[in-house]
Amino acid sequence: MTADRDKQQTAQSLRVVVIGAGIVGVVSALHLVRHGYQVTLIDRDDPGEGCSFGNAGLLARSSFAPLAGPDTMLSVPKWLLDPDGPLSVRWSYLPKLLPWLFRYIRSGFFDDAEATGRALHVLTDPCVDLYRKLADEAGHPELVCESDYLHVYRSEATFKKAASDMNARRKLGFRIDDINASQIQQLEPGLSSEYRYGYQIFDHAYVVDPSGLVKALADLFVREGGTLKKANVDDIRTDGPDGVGVVTGDGVFNCDKMVLAAGAFSARLAAKTGIRLPLDTERGYHITCPDPGPSLSRPVMEGDAKFLTTPMAMGLRFAGTVELGGIDAEANPRRTDVISRHAKRMIDGVNTENASTWMGFRPTLPDSLPVISPSPRHANIIFAFGHQHLGLTCAPKTALLVGDLINGRTPNIDMAPYSAERF
Ligand SMILES: Cc1cc2nc3c(=O)[nH]c(=O)nc-3n(C[C@H](O)[C@H](O)[C@H](O)COP(=O)(O)OP(=O)(O)OC[C@H]3O[C@@H](n4cnc5c(N)ncnc54)[C@H](O)[C@@H]3O)c2cc1C
Repeated sequence: MTADRDKQQTAQSLRVVVIGAGIVGVVSALHLVRHGYQVTLIDRDDPGEGCSFGNAGLLARSSFAPLAGPDTMLSVPKWLLDPDGPLSVRWSYLPKLLPWLFRYIRSGFFDDAEATGRALHVLTDPCVDLYRKLADEAGHPELVCESDYLHVYRSEATFKKAASDMNARRKLGFRIDDINASQIQQLEPGLSSEYRYGYQIFDHAYVVDPSGLVKALADLFVREGGTLKKANVDDIRTDGPDGVGVVTGDGVFNCDKMVLAAGAFSARLAAKTGIRLPLDTERGYHITCPDPGPSLSRPVMEGDAKFLTTPMAMGLRFAGTVELGGIDAEANPRRTDVISRHAKRMIDGVNTENASTWMGFRPTLPDSLPVISPSPRHANIIFAFGHQHLGLTCAPKTALLVGDLINGRTPNIDMAPYSAERF
């Protein structure tokens, strides 16, 4: 009791600044305020307007395959030659991308994929329980829907290619059934009858308004005593006597400890503290159809074209594709046209009129793992970014680990895979 009170008193005198009010920053900030820290959460925008705005909402607790594997590498030339393929590159960005790409390819061929998968699974697995609780506490239980989800394929070859990933998930206890054309039609009559192969993956959940969830959790953070500040972070000072200085257009926020959770923009801010990390972005796109007509009742992954379709509060969302093009170039409308064409092939008669379109910057390190770690230079700066396609899923567990690192406690898992010193 006394030790707990002492710890709380110490925490209360400590100021923490969290940079980035995406899902990772908001859940981390909430966790820290609950531990008694004086927390200021800074974002240049409203909460949940970055990559966390427009994702597909899937709490992908059984997804832990590394992004780069030999199969993926071998498919890349075919994808790049297909204008409707799931991958595109902005060739003008290639010179800047090369160091990242080189590490990514190397990781696909030489990293221990099982070890990467284990490290990802630690972050993905607890998401459903943690989000159910968070959404309840925020007063919005309706934002998290428990459900199974489907992967569907036209091509038997692609279905078979996915079998090793599905078997790896089964080994960890996930229930996954192979399903045929008539089962697919029974489960989702809106899907085209061209889908003849599939997997039904049980015991998952999805978020029906990803940005709404971030905003609801940010409101909860403020209700519980946190401070939310809208300002652009221009610089980070580490040389003063007073801990860390987070420099914004609205003045300098001095703090004892800082969490950097600025998604794909984190590398630029980390560089201001003297740390260079190979973070880049896989730009992803969505279209959301407010009045789709025929729809779906659960998330469905289009396994050939590789995008996810999720029934959201605001309509039917088709989200995915990867565009390698950095964080400065404008969105490419051709990528949302591709998704729109696939949507019409996926669901006969779907209405894509008035669909809203969006592009977001997935923060991705070349070995598929995030950095959740003290900065190698400054022990009072904690990095929490690089969650690639799984940031929504991984955020609650990441927040618990950030809490441990800020507290100076050793987390009860192996943190080496997430270390900033691994590069
Ligand atoms: C098409 C698509 C579909 C996806 N589907 C899923 C899915 O189904 N499930 C899943 O788990 N994940 C999914 N993801 C991935 C997920 O959305 C991301 O991994 C996640 O949103 C990253 O969260 P974040 O908090 O790290 O970054 P962000 O949400 O980008 O937040 C970073 C914040 O930092 C702020 N910021 C940056 N620089 C500064 C600065 N200098 N000063 C002040 N503020 C700054 C930004 O404004 C932003 O709000 C998907 C992504 C895409 C693109």
